Amino acid sequence: MTKQDPYDVVVVGGGIMGSSTAYHLMKMDGRLKVAVVERDPTYTRASTTLSMGNIRIQFSLKENVQISQYAFEVLDRFEEEMAVGDERPDIAFHREGNLFLVDEAGRGVAEKALELQKTQGCPVEWWSPAEIQQHYPLYDSSPFQGGTFGPKDGHLDAYAVLMGYKAKAKSLGAGYIKSEVTHVLTNRNEVTGVRLASGEDLTAKVVVNCAGAWAAEVARTAGVSLPVDPVKRQVFALSPAVKPQGPLPLTILPSGLYFRTETGGLILLGKSMEEDPIGFYFTWDDKRFMEVLWPELAEFVPAFDTMKLMRGWAGLYAVNTLDGNAILGEWPELKGFFLANGFSGHGLQQGPAVGRYVSELILDQPPALDLSTFSPIRILHNKPLSEGGIV
Ligand SMILES: Cc1cc2nc3c(=O)[nH]c(=O)nc-3n(C[C@H](O)[C@H](O)[C@H](O)COP(=O)(O)OP(=O)(O)OC[C@H]3O[C@@H](n4cnc5c(N)ncnc54)[C@H](O)[C@@H]3O)c2cc1C
Repeated sequence: MTKQDPYDVVVVGGGIMGSSTAYHLMKMDGRLKVAVVERDPTYTRASTTLSMGNIRIQFSLKENVQISQYAFEVLDRFEEEMAVGDERPDIAFHREGNLFLVDEAGRGVAEKALELQKTQGCPVEWWSPAEIQQHYPLYDSSPFQGGTFGPKDGHLDAYAVLMGYKAKAKSLGAGYIKSEVTHVLTNRNEVTGVRLASGEDLTAKVVVNCAGAWAAEVARTAGVSLPVDPVKRQVFALSPAVKPQGPLPLTILPSGLYFRTETGGLILLGKSMEEDPIGFYFTWDDKRFMEVLWPELAEFVPAFDTMKLMRGWAGLYAVNTLDGNAILGEWPELKGFFLANGFSGHGLQQGPAVGRYVSELILDQPPALDLSTFSPIRILHNKPLSEGGIV
């Protein structure tokens, strides 16, 4: 097939990472020729659109806290910054808080994380069981030692954020191509472009892997082995007979069970489990809900022992099996092959900082936020980062 003029950058995957990267590249240098290759512009299976849309400050690795602080900053001005002409995205950011319940076993880790968050200037509070009950009378917090509450945390419309980045990136000159990248092309130890399912080649000296749960597959075509597994996660939407008086924060129990209120009087509920299969699976089953999640929920919120399961869905976490954290930067053994991968269930909130950082690396600009701790070199050296608990 005839070759196109070379691109400066080809981005594989147009989810939150690909679109934020395209936006930042174009914002930094409007003369760049950037293509985002996305095989499914409806984003039916993209993790971005299947996520819970939660943004939190409560992490236990400093850089993850800073990434979320930057996300808060960006989201406050997002609708204005992403306006294209008269079109403004409406991201419906509800700052209803995140509450992590803490038991005896987790207290040390929680206190350390809280300390770190405070030194970073984060508004996170320690609540006793009585304070939890006072704020959320439906909860039975008596089995717990207390909880950490981030009042500025909350949830938003992930699809609207994605569309905001995409529309703005396009308005600045980035091209979106509907196709699948079948190969990342290389010559010796350098990237030369990508091959599309149509057989067409796009030439570029820089290729960014933003393929989410498919990241390892894409990297493999360039001879790069990434420890990123697609893992199925399920979310359930239920309508409780007793409606809470007001919104409930994203509430996370030590077991990993989480829930929050959703518009329309619904509760969204989920839990990552050991037996969650690795692979590209998207079916959800009510058995898990009935047998595991509901009984656990009703123990903590007795009023929810009567409710109707409305629906569910399944999406994929791109799990970094080395340390559960992002992998950001150029692969040390392949010039021009940049990674924004392995977000392990908390990537939506990292979109703004990651897109900016990866663009800075590509354009050789000093990073506004040093995220070198997430460098892929640790993958090569098999040296995991430690988050200490709250990933
Ligand atoms: C159930 C669930 C709940 C979550 N909740 C949260 C949350 O509350 N907060 C949070 O921060 N994060 C959450 N996450 C994680 C978050 O959704 C992801 O970390 C983030 O969306 C990853 O973005 P991405 O752009 O890397 O991947 P994606 O959004 O999956 O985008 C990757 C894109 O690449 C495309 N693609 C893949 N391979 C190719 C190819 N070869 N050629 C062309 N296109 C390709 C895909 O079609 C896809 O559109 C959740 C995830 C799930 C599944």
